[in-house]
Order: sequence, then C-alpha cells, then structure tokens
Amino acid sequence: MKDNNIQIAIDGPASSGKSTIAKLLADKYHLVYVDTGAMYRTLTYLALKNKINIDDEQALTALLKEVNITFKRAKDGQDVFANGEKITKKIREHEVTNNVSVVSSFPNVRKELVRRQQALAKESGVVMDGRDIGTVVLPNADVKIFLIASVEERANRRYLENQKKGIETNFERLKEEIIARDDYDSNRKESPLKQAEDAICVDTTGLSITEVVNKCVELINKKIK
Ligand code: C5P
Repeated sequence: MKDNNIQIAIDGPASSGKSTIAKLLADKYHLVYVDTGAMYRTLTYLALKNKINIDDEQALTALLKEVNITFKRAKDGQDVFANGEKITKKIREHEVTNNVSVVSSFPNVRKELVRRQQALAKESGVVMDGRDIGTVVLPNADVKIFLIASVEERANRRYLENQKKGIETNFERLKEEIIARDDYDSNRKESPLKQAEDAICVDTTGLSITEVVNKCVELINKKIK
C-alpha cells in the first residue's frame, strides 16, 4: 500500500494528545492532517460572535452552510480559516471550549461536517482526529487509534500549555471542565465519543510525546506494510 493513500483515525477524550500526535504522524507518513474538532469549534466561535443561540439547531445549520472552513500548514502546526479569516487562536478560547459540546451534539450539524470530513479524505490520505472518526467518519480507516490518559495528566498537560502561553488557569477548574466535556461528548445520542471495536487503545499516561509517536508508528507499520 502506498503510504500517502492511507487513512489513520485518531479518537479519544479531551486533551488526550490527539492533535499533537496526529500532526507528527501526518508529517511522518506525508498525509494531510484534518482536525475535526477545529471544525466544530469554528461553528461555535461564529455562533457566539454572531449572537446565535447555541441551542438553535436550525440557526446553527444555516450558519454552517455559509462558512467555508479551511486549513493551512503553519510553522508550529496548522492554521484554521473561516471564509478566509484566520481564527486559529480564537477557536481555542475558553468560551468556545465550554460551548462546543452543545453545538456538536446536533444531528444536522454533524451530518454536514461529517460530509465535509469525508470529502477531505477522498481527496488524499489523511490523519484525522476527533471523537467519531473510527466509528462514523472513516469506518474503513486503515488504522484506528484511541488515545487515552488519566484526567489528572490531561489537565496537567493543558495547564502547562496554558502557562507557556501566559494564560492563567485554575487546575481544579480545568479538570472539572475536561470531565464535563467528556461526559457530554460520551453521552450524546448522535455519534458519541466511543472507541471503535477495531481501534487500538493507547494509554499515554506517563509517556512522552516521542514514546507515544513510536508506539503509534509501530502499530501503523504493522497494519500497512
Ligand atoms: O478535539 P477538540 O477538543 O478540539 O474538540 C472540540 C469538541 O468538538 C469536542 O469536545 C466535541 O464536542 C466536538 N467534536 C466532535 N466530534 C469530532 C471532533 C470534535 O463532536 N469528531
């Protein structure tokens, strides 16, 4: 199998390191990285900005139809654009993070974004990360990885990341928010956060980024070679 035709699905709970690992794997295998969480975040950001009620599925779906979401490789990762406007940082803001689970729970929002995600995967080989990639978006992906880590560790990683960016955070609150988001994402009716039956679970608690990447590379090479 040619490396750049493959599909790698990475799912897992909030802050489990999906995007960090997915980006490194995309570089290694010359694949396009698709951050599906960024797509749900983009819609949430625009809804908040335009004072659209985030409980109004119809209004959210109408807004989504007007938005072209694109990605572009950047020095330190990937930039996200909504109709050409760079919103990379804005979609990571606290208010977006705390409202995105409601927005992503609506069937018609998911239907449209899943359609776009599947179209991207038709264009080229991808490493795609999210919550339902192995179960719904790419059920035939060549490799499915489910990344987990203890909630303490996930909160700590996020805390240190924020500290580096100069953002003051309360550790206990961060932990509670991660638990609440996982809970909402796992219990929604429409494509909840769930490990696909044929996914391999990798527990990253106590592992460095390099160790996690090496583990994933081992799994991927076993599947595709
Ligand atoms: O991965 P990230 O934390 O950026 O995802 C933000 C939110 O988007 C998740 O908490 C979840 O509600 C939603 N999401 C989703 N399905 C995906 C990716 C993200 O429901 N495939």
